[in-house]
Amino acid sequence: MIRLASVTKRYATGSRPALSDVTLEIGVGEFVFLVGPSGSGKSTLLRLLLREERATAGLVEVAGRDVARIPDRRVPQLRRTVGCVFQDFRLLPDRTVAGNVAFALDVVGRPRHVVRTVVPEVLELVGLAGKEKRFPDELSGGEQQRVAIARAFVGRPRVLLADEPTGNLDPATGSEIMELLEDVNQAGTTVLMATHNAGLVDAMRRRVLELDAGTLVRDERRGGYDA
Ligand code: ADP
Ligand code: ADP
Repeated sequence: MIRLASVTKRYATGSRPALSDVTLEIGVGEFVFLVGPSGSGKSTLLRLLLREERATAGLVEVAGRDVARIPDRRVPQLRRTVGCVFQDFRLLPDRTVAGNVAFALDVVGRPRHVVRTVVPEVLELVGLAGKEKRFPDELSGGEQQRVAIARAFVGRPRVLLADEPTGNLDPATGSEIMELLEDVNQAGTTVLMATHNAGLVDAMRRRVLELDAGTLVRDERRGGYDA
C-alpha cells in the first residue's frame, strides 16, 4: 500500500537531509507506528505520502502509484486515498461537527443525499451521535479528535496517516482514540501513526518503524517504543 525505495528528502534550507535513503514497505491493512525523536523525519515522511512535499531522490508509492508522477490536478484524488489526522485536530472552527465531516464530502463533489446519510453514520461510528450541531470549541479535545477521524475516514480512504494524534490528549482519552484508530484499521484501512507516546506503542505491540536523524534504524514486527 505504501512503498519507499531509497528515498532522500533534502529541504532547501536544511544542512543535513530530513530523510536519508529510506526504504520500506507497508502492506494493505497493516497498522504501523512511526517513532523517533523530534526532528528525525517522521512528519516529512508523512508529507511525502500526501505529496505535500516531493522526495529529492528515490521512489514514493501509495496504492501502487508513484506519487511524484501524479499530475497536480490529480493530487486531490491522492488525498482521497490517504486520509490524515493531526495532533492539533485542524477542524474548521466556523462549521459544526456535521459540517466539518460533510465538508470533506462536499469538496469531492458527493451529492447531498449521500452526504445526508453518510455523515450521521460515520459520526455514530466515532461515538459522536447527538453532537452533530456542536461547534469544535464546544467539544473536548478527545471529541475534536473524533471529529477529525470521522472527517478523515468518511471518504473510506485506503490509508490513514496520523501525526501524533494523541499528543494533546490525556492518557485515558489517548487510549480511546487508539481504539478508534484500531476500528478504522479493522475496517480495512492501512494506518501509519507517528507518535512519541511510548505507553500506547508498548501496549499495542504492532509493527514499529524508527527514524533517527532521517535514517530508518529499526523495523520490528511486534515492537515497543524502545528497541
Ligand atoms: P519529526 O516529525 O520527526 O519531528 P520532521 O520531519 O518535522 O521531523 O523534520 C525532520 C528535519 O527536517 C528536521 O531537521 C527539521 O528541522 C527539518 N525540516 C522539517 N520541515 C522543514 C522545512 N519545511 N524546511 C526546512 N527544514 C525542515
Ligand atoms: P453551516 O455551513 O451553516 O455551518 P453546517 O456546518 O451545519 O452549516 O452544515 C454544513 C454541511 O453539513 C451542509 O452540507 C449540510 O448538508 C451538512 N449537514 C449539516 N447537518 C448535518 C447532519 N445532521 N447530517 C448530515 N449532514 C449535515
